[in-house]
Formats: sequence, structure tokens, C-alpha cells
Amino acid sequence: MRHETSCKRLCLIGSTGSIGTQTLDIVAAHPDRYAVTVLCAGSNVNALTGQALRFRPRSVVIADDGKFNELKKNLEGTGIKVHAGAQALCEAVQRADVDMIVNATVGYSGLAPTIAAIGAGKDIALANKETLVVAGELIRRLLKSSPSRIYPIDSEHSAIAQCLAGEDTDSVRRLIITASGGPFRTWTTQQLEKATVADALHHPNWSMGAKITIDSATMLNKAFEIIEAHYLFNIPAERIVPMVHPQSIVHSMVEFADGAVKAQLGIPDMRLPIAYALGEGKRLAGASNPLTLPQMMQLTFSAPDTGKFPCLTFAETALKRGGNAACTINAANEVANLAFRQGKIPFNAIYTVVARTLDHEDFIEAPEYEDYVATNTSACRHAAEIVHDIAVKTIYAT
Ligand code: NDP
Ligand code: MG
Repeated sequence: MRHETSCKRLCLIGSTGSIGTQTLDIVAAHPDRYAVTVLCAGSNVNALTGQALRFRPRSVVIADDGKFNELKKNLEGTGIKVHAGAQALCEAVQRADVDMIVNATVGYSGLAPTIAAIGAGKDIALANKETLVVAGELIRRLLKSSPSRIYPIDSEHSAIAQCLAGEDTDSVRRLIITASGGPFRTWTTQQLEKATVADALHHPNWSMGAKITIDSATMLNKAFEIIEAHYLFNIPAERIVPMVHPQSIVHSMVEFADGAVKAQLGIPDMRLPIAYALGEGKRLAGASNPLTLPQMMQLTFSAPDTGKFPCLTFAETALKRGGNAACTINAANEVANLAFRQGKIPFNAIYTVVARTLDHEDFIEAPEYEDYVATNTSACRHAAEIVHDIAVKTIYAT
């Protein structure tokens, strides 16, 4: 693929993942509009090599520096520069030959590149919601003194941005964030005790990376999205309402002061919100297939069941406490989510690990970047200890 300087030059973080590959689908379909200057992945050398040979970026970055030599060897003679490690990622987003960052890495690893991008005044198409969950207050503050803008890729937040286009944000009464309810929407609490990893990874409407699919099953994903919406749109937490909508056709809604409600509808296809973010709010013809009338004939809505999905309550806890609380919740969840996927703890224990870590962790009211780093490290350690306790008890109980 040719590298055009007349089109928007992207640094794509998380290129080998679900959002990353769909972003590259859009780039491949619109070489007149988009080119990739840098591709970055975590550790999947083979996938990154294949993408590099196809899209011909100037550089690639692999976060896992143990994979540097293998990647370098694969790309020998291509002229593509190879870098490795977290620092290289932060340098990549600041390059002069990059116009926009697509941040589609997973988890806490998205925070540092977002901050580096804001420092360099770059616009960001943000899929990595954990950036705003971990350090929303800091990001908001940094954005005030930077020309950078954040364009959300998360479908609900893209929907809200689409509803708010041309509107006065003072006239917003409520944001209504829809949720599919995940694979366990109709399960009982007793059934949830026996939920397997395969059950939890079987999302009814969306095909996504493993971590967010488990977050959707616990509904912590929706709690994260409330936090994300709070920081993106500057709306108080009590005016952001989650609503279960199993069809995933209405991607979210905005209720205005005059009683009007605007919604954005579409088939569940992330290429639409990705294209809308890449286009800075301009629509890309053919980004997704349109809805058909029968798909719109059965749209149902109900309140979420926080008894069955207690992780949803972490949104209120995080935003009421403020400070480093959401950073702690995110760190504990990253550990618990992975431990569940590795078969170490039962599904319902994900909530327990997060709640107990939150009880343990020191509260910092006005964290700076270093405090978030320290909180993340410490909360991951605490959460790992709690996981270990639960894992031992689970083995003895069976
Ligand atoms: P995936 O797990 O599919 O992909 C994650 C990507 O990040 C991979 O390319 C992975 O590389 C890379 N990566 C992992 N660790 C690092 C690191 N330390 N530094 C740089 N890159 C790294 O995740 P998704 O695409 O599903 O999700 C990405 C983000 O988008 C998440 O924050 C998620 O919540 C959000 N999101 C996703 C949606 C979806 O439909 N998938 C919808 C809405 C939001 P490697 O392959 O080498 O491991
Ligand atoms: Mg979402």
C-alpha cells in the first residue's frame, strides 16, 4: 500500500486487535483518505509483521521488548523501522509525520500514550476507555491546555457525540447509555455461579477482544462507559443512565431539556463509530450496512439488574469517591478479569476481587500522574493476592 502524505497519517496502537484490524479495514478501503505511519501491537509478532508488509508503515512498535529481535528479523530489508517497549510507544505518538492517534490498546497500557499524544497536541480517536476510567480528571485537565481533541470510538459514546452534534450541551438533561446485557442477561444469580469462560466469551451481538467481552458479561464495561461519558461530555454521573437494550440497535440516546430524545441507531458494527472518529465527526459513505426495517421492529428497553450484576455499581462508587478510586477499580478488574479467563477464579469472584481491592487500597483525593502509576501497581498487587486466596479456597471447596 502506498504512503500518501496528502491523507490523514495515523499512528495505530493495538493494530492487531479487534478495533485495530477494523480500523485497518477502513484504511485499506480508503487509501485516498488514510495511511498508517506507525503500527503498534503488544506481543503478536506474526500478526504485526503481516500488517506491516501489507500497509507499509514507516515504523512499527512492539510493546513487549522481548520480541524486538524477532520482529526486526521479519522486517529486514523492508526499510520499516522497528522499535520496542512502552517508551517507544509514547515517542511514536508524538512524531511530526503523524496527524492522528488511534488508541485501541487494551487496559491501563492506553494511558501513557494518550498523555503523550495530548502533550504533542495530537488528536486522538479513542477506543481505549480505560484511559478515561483510570485518569479521567487528569486527561480533562491536560486537554484544557492542549489543542488535542478526543473522538470517541466506543459505540455508545460515538452515538452520544452524534446526538450532540449541533446541540447546546447546556440543554442536555440525561445521557441514556444502552447495554446489550451481555451473554448472561437472562441467567439467574445461581446460574452465574457456574458460568464458564466459554459462556462469558459468547457475546450475543458483538465480536470483540477477550477482556472487554468479559467486562460486558460482568457489566463492568457499562460502569466504565458511564465514567467515560462523564469525562467526555462533562455530564454529572447522576444524569447518566444505563438502559438494557438486548438488540444493540439503539447505540445510546440523549434527552434534552425540552423533552426531546435523540438516538443513534445502526446495526452492531464498530466500523461506523471508528470511521466517524477518524473523520472527526464527518460521515464516511458506506462505513457500515444500513439498518433494515425488520431490524427496527423489535426494540426493547429495561432497567439493569444491579443485584445480579453488582459490578455496575462501581460507576457510582468511582465517581462519588473520585480521586484514584476508578484507577483502583480498573487495576483490580484487569487482574480479576484475566484470572477468570485463566480459570483461576469463578465468574462471580470478579466482583469480589474488585470490591476487596477497593477496600484495601489507599485513597488519594487529587492524584497526579505518578499517583495513578503507583495506585495501578499497588492495586494490581493487592488484587493478585485476593485472587490467590480465592483460588486456593475454590480448589479446596471442589
Ligand atoms: P483486543 O484484545 O482485541 O486488542 C488489543 C490490542 O492491543 C492488540 O493489538 C494487542 O496486541 C494490543 N496491546 C496489548 N497490550 C499492549 C500494550 N501494552 N501496548 C500496546 N499495544 C498493546 O482488544 P479490543 O480491540 O477489543 O479493545 C481495544 C480497546 O477498545 C479496549 O479498551 C476496549 O475496551 C475498547 N473497545 C473495544 C470494542 C470492540 O468492539 N472490540 C468496542 C468498544 C471499545 P497483541 O495482539 O500483540 O496482543
Ligand atoms: Mg461500548
